[in-house]
Amino acid sequence: MTDFLRELNDVQREAVLATEGPVMVLAGAGSGKTRVITFRIAHLIRNQRVSPQNILALTFTNKAAGEMRHRIDGILEQGSSSSLWIGTFHSVFARLLRSYIHLIGYDRNFSIFDADDSKSLVKQCMKELNLSPETLPVNLVHSTISKSKNNFVLPPEFHRKAIDDQYQKIALVYERYVQRLRENNALDFDDLLIKPIELFTEHPQVLEQLQEYFRYLLIDEYQDTNRVQYLVAKMIAAKHRNIFVVGDDAQSIYSWRGADISNMLNFNDDYGDAQLFKLVDNYRSTKTILQAANNVISRNQRQIKKELVANAGTGEPITLIEAYNERREAEKVGDCIRSIRLANGAEYRAFAIFYRTNAQSRVIEDVMRQNRIPYKIFGSVSFYKRKEIKDAVAYMRLVLNDRDSESLLRVINFPPRKIGDVSINKLKEFAEEQNISLYDAVRRAGEGGFQARLVGALTQFASLIEAMRRQAEEGTAYDVLSMLYDTTGLLSLLKEENTPESLARHENLQELLSMTRDFADHNPSSATLGDFLSTISLASDYDETQESDNYVSLMTVHAAKGLEFPVVFVTGMEEKLFPLNSYEPSEVEEERRLFYVAITRAREKLFLSWAQSRYMYGQPQMCLRSTFINEIDPDIIVTEGGRKLSESPKKVAATAMAGRPVFGSSLRPQPGSPSAKVPTVKPAGSAAPTGAAKSAYRVGTKVQHAIFGPGTVLEVQGSGAKQKVKINFRTAGEKTLMVQYANLKVV
Ligand code: ATP
Ligand code: MG
Repeated sequence: MTDFLRELNDVQREAVLATEGPVMVLAGAGSGKTRVITFRIAHLIRNQRVSPQNILALTFTNKAAGEMRHRIDGILEQGSSSSLWIGTFHSVFARLLRSYIHLIGYDRNFSIFDADDSKSLVKQCMKELNLSPETLPVNLVHSTISKSKNNFVLPPEFHRKAIDDQYQKIALVYERYVQRLRENNALDFDDLLIKPIELFTEHPQVLEQLQEYFRYLLIDEYQDTNRVQYLVAKMIAAKHRNIFVVGDDAQSIYSWRGADISNMLNFNDDYGDAQLFKLVDNYRSTKTILQAANNVISRNQRQIKKELVANAGTGEPITLIEAYNERREAEKVGDCIRSIRLANGAEYRAFAIFYRTNAQSRVIEDVMRQNRIPYKIFGSVSFYKRKEIKDAVAYMRLVLNDRDSESLLRVINFPPRKIGDVSINKLKEFAEEQNISLYDAVRRAGEGGFQARLVGALTQFASLIEAMRRQAEEGTAYDVLSMLYDTTGLLSLLKEENTPESLARHENLQELLSMTRDFADHNPSSATLGDFLSTISLASDYDETQESDNYVSLMTVHAAKGLEFPVVFVTGMEEKLFPLNSYEPSEVEEERRLFYVAITRAREKLFLSWAQSRYMYGQPQMCLRSTFINEIDPDIIVTEGGRKLSESPKKVAATAMAGRPVFGSSLRPQPGSPSAKVPTVKPAGSAAPTGAAKSAYRVGTKVQHAIFGPGTVLEVQGSGAKQKVKINFRTAGEKTLMVQYANLKVV
């Protein structure tokens, strides 16, 4: 056996060795599904002599793809993975479409519209159709269109099936939206999956070519594929049938985006001869964490019963943090991070803070900043969604694809060129009359009968774009962006403005420039503007991470899928927040799967936190502790004071474990009551207790630690700033801590 295969257990290895024909691995979190994919690829290349370019692996995030590559290079040799096709559905098909999309009437320099771009296009289409967003919300229209696309319901079918007036209106928007995208030579995210199907249907020879090419298809997180993804995968695998999918029905958390778990459950219908493997051993988490996960998920009615056994030891109990409001909650999280770091030297990257909704991140972010804890946030205001970045990117998109009128409108008057709405409307009319693109109208402004001043401004704009285009033909994205900054004086304008906002924007634009430079350094053979734009438009929020950085990760639970961290905080464990407002049992079950995903990211230590009051919708709201907490055995949860939840005055949780759901009053915190305990860990800046505490320890002294709970001193070593104490903690076992930092309380 090749050496690296010894790093797998027997079932994992069998799944790796079963290289021919359809195979599915159905197994719980942390059981090594992703590892099996990685090793299988290495096995195909090393032992089966399959050429890397004949392998297509589809992952859930770009980050996962990068990690897989890295891992394969580690198993085989450096560079082995370079010709492999590994990426998300979106990135792989965007890349393929660049080669083939001309066959279905697009230009290969198509733009990729992100969710915000496509929302604004929906808005514009509604305006053109005189549909008021008051009666028909843009978000609803946008999500209905996107869902339909993901189910492969295109405008004609949607129209036919439109049951009522509202759907008929959406049908009109949908039709126009699709038409406008085409006019812009643009694809939205959903098109990146739909267009390949159109391409394969209209040009079967392309499909045959790709089927021949991608002899081995592997898909991670298969439970979250939607209908179009399922169809594309099926088409590609149809010839060689070497399709390998791994997933966990308990982690299906994207049904709101059209993911369809039946893709997994019906795998056998499509591939009657499929081999099925079930992995049972969990290599990620402690017994305690896994027990909590199992407690929770077993409440779901709709699930495939799976066994999941911990390989690791019992580990530490789960700590429940209770705070009187969300700021205090975040502070306590920050305190815990600090204490753990000081106690055992953990790096910031060991920590992750999860939340259910993006809105929760702001307070956490504030507190991290105040406490000088380096963090990285992955959420709605991601780097690429900031205005100035979108503006700069719009310039680059326009340079590449001059039919991209959305981008043109974004930058035509940025920085200000005195081209106002009235002028833009005239320009639009001119373009329509002449049946030319908006950009062509700009270029031919002299023929439009506009005022000389406007013609001058438009001509100048066009010559900037043309100069950038010439630069793009010869140079890299970095060259193009530098030219933009130099010519427009964008950076100096922001600097002169000299407000905190403008300086932050200045910094962000600088950052974008550095990114293009890094990109050129890392991709010497493919650092064109097109390459750069494709990469950044598909970068998911999590992908902004730079490997070398050391920071606490902040993200929604959705974004955490597939990842793992030694210490995880799940914040906002409150009714109506997590679970988020859920009325249908199926919605509650999806929330519960989400909670299961959150818990199972943790390797060593899990914290659950909640606030008794929280600002929501601009108002402070009283909150109830999440019923999800009652679903975990209270014997494995301790309070901040280190007391078992099962022994704490709030006995109610134990009742929940007996199978009777607990709702209502007994759980309700008393607003302003002393139950908002005094924190045992001091806030930032006041850490490092001094002299007084030094002499306070002797063998046998009873102490209290914010995380490890109560314990007894076993040994005192050294003195002064270097003094250490060995403590036997009641639940966490023996630990040696630096007195100066441990923030111990003598009790
Ligand atoms: P998820 O469902 O969360 O995506 P997964 O099933 O994909 O989880 P992996 O991420 O592949 O699980 O593995 C979880 C952890 O366990 C990883 O750190 C992995 O390296 C480790 N692991 C998996 N299998 C083994 C093994 N046989 N020996 C040692 N470590 C393993
Ligand atoms: Mg995985």
